[in-house]
Amino acid sequence: MSQQNSPKALEIKNLRKAFNEKTAVDNLNLSLPRGEFYAFLGANGAGKTTSMRMIGGLLAPDSGSINVYGIDVGEKPQEAKSLMAWLPDEPLLYDKLSPIEYLEFVAGLWQVDNNIAANRAEDLLKRFDLWDVREQRCEGFSRGMKQKTAIAGALLHDPKLLLMDEPFSGLDAAIARDLKDLLQEKCKEGATIILTTHIMEIAQKLANKIGIIHKGVLLSEGTLDEIRHEQKMHDASLEDIFLKLVDERA
Ligand code: ATP
Repeated sequence: MSQQNSPKALEIKNLRKAFNEKTAVDNLNLSLPRGEFYAFLGANGAGKTTSMRMIGGLLAPDSGSINVYGIDVGEKPQEAKSLMAWLPDEPLLYDKLSPIEYLEFVAGLWQVDNNIAANRAEDLLKRFDLWDVREQRCEGFSRGMKQKTAIAGALLHDPKLLLMDEPFSGLDAAIARDLKDLLQEKCKEGATIILTTHIMEIAQKLANKIGIIHKGVLLSEGTLDEIRHEQKMHDASLEDIFLKLVDERA
């Protein structure tokens, strides 16, 4: 199948979710081709995590559809999940496990062949400087080390759509650099990435497309130049545009 005819990495139509009658995500539409690096930019409470949890099949939408590589997340959640990596903003690890045990556990969940899993685990742990501590329990690890272990776990089954909720929060500069490099590499290999952030610089530097979300509504999306053009703010910074859009909405 040619790239043109093959299904999008992610196709969201008219997605809605409310909690106690308060709208969290309001008629979201999104279409991402393969290899896209997309940043969901929004303030606290904008609806980023709720959107990501619905895409990841962890939260049922009130209405709308989500297709991942042509697979309907609502109809075939397991099949869709096998194509995705989900990294929550507060990574959950089994503290009593070592990184290597955790990765073996994850490999078992996804039924990854033992040899392939062992090679991927070694690669990931080495690139994240966790190889020397691979047999130590995670409970004594710093937040950054735990985050890196969680990222390695999320990538072990070689997912094609990476959902990363605030992946840089709490990471020091060196670890953040490792993660940026890894995500850019994955993108070049054809994976599609969506990350959420409230930090303009992360959205601007990493993503090739940015979606500005506020109070559950996608206010604008595109490359920074496309957003500038759409808003007729040709020389403005992303921050200026973001604040103007949010102000108008208020
Ligand atoms: P943050 O950057 O603070 O994580 P966010 O953009 O990820 O924010 P969401 O967590 O998606 O925002 O929240 C969107 C709205 O939905 C908020 O008003 C939030 O209070 C509400 N919300 C989210 N989850 C729940 C829930 N489980 N029960 C009730 N309300 C919720």
